[in-house]
Amino acid sequence: MRLGVLGGSFDPVHHGHLIAARTLREKLELDVVMLIPAGQQPFKRDGHGASGVDRAAMTELAVAGEAGLAVDRIEVDRTGPSYTVDTLAALRGAQSGAELVLLVGADAAAELPAWRQAERIRELARVVVFTRAGAGVPPLDGPVVEIPALEISSTDIRARVRAGLSIRYLVPETVEAYIAANGLYRRRDGLDG
Ligand code: ATP
Ligand code: MG
Repeated sequence: MRLGVLGGSFDPVHHGHLIAARTLREKLELDVVMLIPAGQQPFKRDGHGASGVDRAAMTELAVAGEAGLAVDRIEVDRTGPSYTVDTLAALRGAQSGAELVLLVGADAAAELPAWRQAERIRELARVVVFTRAGAGVPPLDGPVVEIPALEISSTDIRARVRAGLSIRYLVPETVEAYIAANGLYRRRDGLDG
C-alpha cells in the first residue's frame, strides 16, 4: 500500500489541488492520495478564512466518489498547531505497513529544511516535490514530478466570493454550493482574504 500525503489549507479546496492530487496518484502509482486539511498552520499565523470543520467538509465533498482520493481530518481534529512530522508519525501508526509519500509543492519545498524535525520527516516518508508545468525544476535534491499548471488559488477564490463574483469552474459544484449555503468568505474578519 502506497499512501500519498498532500497537506494544505484547502481554504477552499479547488480544481488545482484536485488535478494535482490525481496526477500525482497516477504518476507515482499511489494507491491513495490523502488530502489533509491543516489545523492551525505553523507558518500561517494569521488564521484561516474558514474553520477546520468547514475546510474538511468541503474537501470531503470534493473527493467524494473519486477512487484513490481521500481526506483525513487528523490535523483539523487536533488542538493547537499541527506539524508534518507528527501527522506522518500518526499515519504510520494508523496505516501500519503503508509506504508514506509526502507530496510537497515546489513553493513549500524551499522551506522544507526549516520544518520541525526535517530529518525525522525523511525517515518516516519518501519526499516528492511537485512543480507546475512551465515553472521549472526547483534546485533541490530528490525526485520532482511535473503536474499541469492551473492558475487557480484559494486566495483568489476567497477574494472573488468577497467581491460577489462567481467561483464556478474554479471549484467543484458541491464546494461552490457549500460556500454559498454557509456564507463562507463574505467578510474580512481581519484575515488575509
Ligand atoms: P492560498 O492561496 O491560500 O495560499 P492555495 O491555493 O495555494 O491557497 P494551499 O492549500 O496553500 O492552496 O495548497 C496546498 C497545496 O496545493 C500546496 O502544496 C500547493 O503548492 C498546492 N497547490 C495550490 N494551488 C495549486 C494549483 N493551482 N495547482 C497545483 N497545486 C496547487
Ligand atoms: Mg498557497
